[in-house]
Amino acid sequence: MNQNINKNALIHLGEFREEALEKKFNDAEIIRNLNYVKFTILIVALVYFIFIIPEYFILKDTNDFISVLICRCIIVALLIILYFKVSRDRKFDSLIYWVTAYEVIISLSFIYISNKFPAPDFMIQSFSVMVMILAIFLINNRWLYSIFTSLFISIGYFVFAALSFEDVSSSEFIAAVFHIMLVVLLSSIASYSINYYKRIQYLNNIELIRMAEHDPLTGIYNKAKFNKEYTGLEDRGKQNNAHLSIVMFDIDNFKEINDQYGHLTGDAVLVDLTGLIGKHIRNSDLFIRWGGEEFVLTFPDTPLLQATEISEKLRGLISDHSFEKIGHLSCSFGVATYREGDDLDSVIRRADERLYLAKRSGKNKVM
Ligand code: GH3
Ligand code: MG
Ligand code: MG
Repeated sequence: MNQNINKNALIHLGEFREEALEKKFNDAEIIRNLNYVKFTILIVALVYFIFIIPEYFILKDTNDFISVLICRCIIVALLIILYFKVSRDRKFDSLIYWVTAYEVIISLSFIYISNKFPAPDFMIQSFSVMVMILAIFLINNRWLYSIFTSLFISIGYFVFAALSFEDVSSSEFIAAVFHIMLVVLLSSIASYSINYYKRIQYLNNIELIRMAEHDPLTGIYNKAKFNKEYTGLEDRGKQNNAHLSIVMFDIDNFKEINDQYGHLTGDAVLVDLTGLIGKHIRNSDLFIRWGGEEFVLTFPDTPLLQATEISEKLRGLISDHSFEKIGHLSCSFGVATYREGDDLDSVIRRADERLYLAKRSGKNKVM
């Protein structure tokens, strides 16, 4: 429940309050929706152009027809440019300004073309405006910008209609205004909830992925994350000059700590220990809770000797550290490096065997 309240607070007017998060969300959205966005642009271009067919019959004046044809061709050309721009850029930030500008230009062209009609029908034109509003909300844009462009076309149309339609009764006009504004309102509400729920979903996904890859007690990675990175690690290990080292370590006599101080203190020791190690490794090193009080470290681009030195440093760090309540403890380490013909399993097994040797030969050692 608490989580939900926090998530709600992160979203304001259908967008993340935090700019960086909003940008990350939108960039992921555009990459996920790229085909949809491109398809929509082509459909809009096609539908926009198709209207030239009825216009061919309606517009009796050749000059009027040619100017409408040119107008439609320009817009279609602009849409094709947008299509290629979207394919290349894949950036939501710049796309929204383009989309908004296009919506405004298309709205203006609609009014320009309507003006060429010898006897435009008020009701038919009003339906067209409604369809255009629905199309605006279908196209990826910032929620508020969609409202802006749909209001822009509605108000533009009302002004145009008030000035150019003569035989429209005021009740007919008011009914059209009312219905069009209702379409804007309902579309805005629908679009708001889509935007809102998409972001909630996005946060839930991030949380799920984090939970799936991290150990809940210590917050470091778990075995599932290791399995996920497995192929990448193995490929790296297979590269001629990349030395992938794997270190496995286990707390010495941890059972005694649990027995003497209780399980909760044991848990606190695990948290303290992983915090300590976490501060002394590189970002590229994976630190995994392998199970219980057993951990694995992967050191990319690190030959055996260097990995042993690092492990020795970590071993010293742990045995010098004073843990709350229990004081001092030690860990035993097994180090192995990827060799030709190895798979990751065999490296892990070797590290495990060496860890076992370290335990057998007195603990608090690196093998
Ligand atoms: P050794 O030096 O041979 O490793 O001895 P050990 O006592 O550490 O033996 P072992 O590794 O077999 O014991 C692991 C113990 O760690 C047993 C288990 O109760 C404890 N343990 C495993 N996971 C947790 C945990 O999440 N919290 C706590 N408090 N204890 C755990
Ligand atoms: Mg142990
Ligand atoms: Mg153990």
